[in-house]
Amino acid sequence: MRYDIVIIGGGPGGYTCAIRCGQLGLRTALVERAELGGVCLNWGCIPTKALYAATKLLHQASTAKDMGISFETPKVDLAELAAWKAGVVAKLTGGIGQLLEKNGVDVIQAEGRLTGGGSITLSTGDAFEADRIVLATGSRSVELPPFPFASEPIWSSDDALALREVPNHLIIIGGGVIGLELATIYARLGSRVTVVELLPEILATIDLDRRTTSTLKRALKTQGIDLRLGTRAESWEEDGGIVRLHLADGDPIEGDRILVAVGRRPNVEDLGLDDAGVELDPCGCIAVNEHLETSASGVFAIGDVVPGPMLAHKAAADAVFLADRFGDLDAEPADPSLIPQAIFTDPEISSVGISEAGAKDLGEPILVGRFAYAGLGKALGMRESEGFFQVIAREADHRLLGVQIIGAEAADLIGEAAVALQQGLTLEAITESVHAHPTLPEGLKEAAENALGRAIHTVNR
Ligand code: FAD
Repeated sequence: MRYDIVIIGGGPGGYTCAIRCGQLGLRTALVERAELGGVCLNWGCIPTKALYAATKLLHQASTAKDMGISFETPKVDLAELAAWKAGVVAKLTGGIGQLLEKNGVDVIQAEGRLTGGGSITLSTGDAFEADRIVLATGSRSVELPPFPFASEPIWSSDDALALREVPNHLIIIGGGVIGLELATIYARLGSRVTVVELLPEILATIDLDRRTTSTLKRALKTQGIDLRLGTRAESWEEDGGIVRLHLADGDPIEGDRILVAVGRRPNVEDLGLDDAGVELDPCGCIAVNEHLETSASGVFAIGDVVPGPMLAHKAAADAVFLADRFGDLDAEPADPSLIPQAIFTDPEISSVGISEAGAKDLGEPILVGRFAYAGLGKALGMRESEGFFQVIAREADHRLLGVQIIGAEAADLIGEAAVALQQGLTLEAITESVHAHPTLPEGLKEAAENALGRAIHTVNR
C-alpha cells in the first residue's frame, strides 16, 4: 500500500496534521497504537481541565456563604466524577474519529516503525510506503529511578487522573505546570497537598515575572498547599500504610501517595530511527530543521517529540504548517516566542511574549502597565478579585512585547493578547478598541492604558 502521507501518532499533532492533509486531498494514513487524541485528550489537557472545572464548582459551592447562598456540605462521588470525565474525553475522541473519517484519512490501530527509505512496518505485520512520513509520537512522564511508577504508592500524572482515590496527604515531586495543576485539583478534592521542588522557584522553566509567581505562591498557601522549594526528594519507604519521603535535607514527609511530575520525555524508542537515519538532538528530542524535516529526507516530526514547548496548541500549529507545506501552500511556522501558555492553578496564569524581566534583559526601554482584578466590577461580582493583568511594550513605538495575566479565566483572556502580539499591534490598538462592560477583558485594556499613563480605574504612575 502506498500513501502520500503516513503519520505515526494520533495526538493533537498527528490527528491535526492528518485532518489538514485530508482536506488538501492528500492520500493520508494515521497510525495510532492507543487512543486517538493522544495524551492531550486522554491523559492531559482535557481530563485535567474537566477536573479543574468540577473541583472549582466544589470550591465555589463551599464558599458561597459570602453571597448569602448556602448549600449542604458538597459531597464527591469519585466513581461518578471519573465517569463524567471519561464521558467528556469520549465525546472529544469520538469527534476526532469522525473528522478523520470525513476527511478521508485511513486510521490504523497499530504501532508504527520506520524501516528506512519511506517505508513503515506495523505491529499488525502490514507494511506501507509513503512519500512523506510524519512522526508525532509525543511524550511520556519522566520516571525518577528511586520512584518507579510500578510501585503502588508512586503516581504518574496518569495515575492521578485515573481518580481511584483521594489521598489524605498527597506529596507531589515537581512544582511545574502539571504538578501545580494536580495540586490544585487534589487540594479542592480534600487532600492535604505538599509540593517538593528541587529548584528555588515554582514554574521555574516558564518566563514569568516574580510578581506573578509570588501572587500564585500566596494563593497556594491560602489553599493549604505546602510548598517546599529548593529541596531534593531522594528516596521513599512504606511503613504500615504510611509513605515516607526522604529529602536531601530536613525531616522526612509522611503521606499516602507520592505523585512524580518532573517533566516529560519524548517517545523516540522502538521507532526505527536509526534504520531510517533520523537523528536526535542532545536533549533526546528528534532534531528538525525550520521546515520540521528530520535528518532523513522525507521524514518530518512535530509536537512533543521535537524541541520546544510541550503544548497541545504548539503541536497543532506544527501540524497545520507541515500539512500546508505538503499541499504546496504558503505557510509560516509558528513563532515560538508567540505561543501562549496557560496554567490552570487557582488563580489561573497565562502569558504570551516576553516577561518584564526578559524585556529588561533586552536592554530596550519599555513601558509597563498593570491593572488589578480588584478594579474590575465583573471580577468582584464573580468573587474573583485576586490577580492582575500586565502588559509590556517597547517605549519607542508602543509595540506590545508581552502580556501576563494571573487571575480568574486568565487562560481564556490571553487570546486577545496573542492576536495583538502576532499582528505586531501597539498599546493603542488595545486601548482604542471598545471593550464590552462589565467584562474581564476590560482589565487588559486598562493595563494597556496604564502603560500609557491614562487608565481610568487606577491611579497611573
Ligand atoms: P501526544 O499527545 O503525546 O500523542 C502522541 C501519540 O502517539 C499517542 O497517542 C501515542 O499512543 C502515539 N504513539 C507513540 N508512539 C507510537 C508508535 N510507534 N506507533 C503508533 N502510535 C504511537 N498542553 C496544553 O497545551 N494545555 C494543557 O492544558 C495541557 N495540560 C496537560 C496536562 C497533563 C497532565 C499532561 C500530561 C499534559 C498536558 N499538556 C497540555 C501537554 C499536551 O498533552 C501535549 O503537549 C500534547 O498532547 C502533545 O501532542 P502530540 O501530538 O505531540 O503527542
